[in-house]
Amino acid sequence: MKFNCIRPSIVFQEVPDEISLCFSITGCKVGCKGCHSTELWNENQGVQLTNNLFIDWLNKYKDLITCVCFFGGEWQAETLIEKLIIANNLGLKTCLYSGENHINISISQHLTFLKTGKWTPELGGLNSPTTNQTFYNLKTGQKLNYLFKPTDDNTHLGEQNVAA
Ligand code: SF4
Repeated sequence: MKFNCIRPSIVFQEVPDEISLCFSITGCKVGCKGCHSTELWNENQGVQLTNNLFIDWLNKYKDLITCVCFFGGEWQAETLIEKLIIANNLGLKTCLYSGENHINISISQHLTFLKTGKWTPELGGLNSPTTNQTFYNLKTGQKLNYLFKPTDDNTHLGEQNVAA
């Protein structure tokens, strides 16, 4: 089964107060109207994120990062869970940006943070007061949308969130 990813990048704003290595997994089937990341719809885009490749990336950046963030990948639950366990075992927090409203507990039990909800242009992203999306700290049960309030620095987040 494919679990391809676009080359990961370090991000600062997608997970508040964390420095995250972010993996965008291709093969998204949510099909949000107005998706700005349609390159993520084709599961053949990117390279297969094997456990060995994932571990190589984490070893390269583990002294710089505090969290690993996945944009998508919940459609391959077992494969995603393997990655979350690897990250947790390295002492890293984990986050999933999903376009779904609900995530199976078999995945969420390995997550520190979870963003749910599809991209809906008229409602906006996490920095919009009318958004349908929710960002949770699953360890505390806290809803953290308030940390995404618009500032000059994060006005892009409304678009960035379309990646999952
Ligand atoms: S916005 Fe995200 S969840 Fe929605 S179709 Fe695009 S990549 Fe998939």
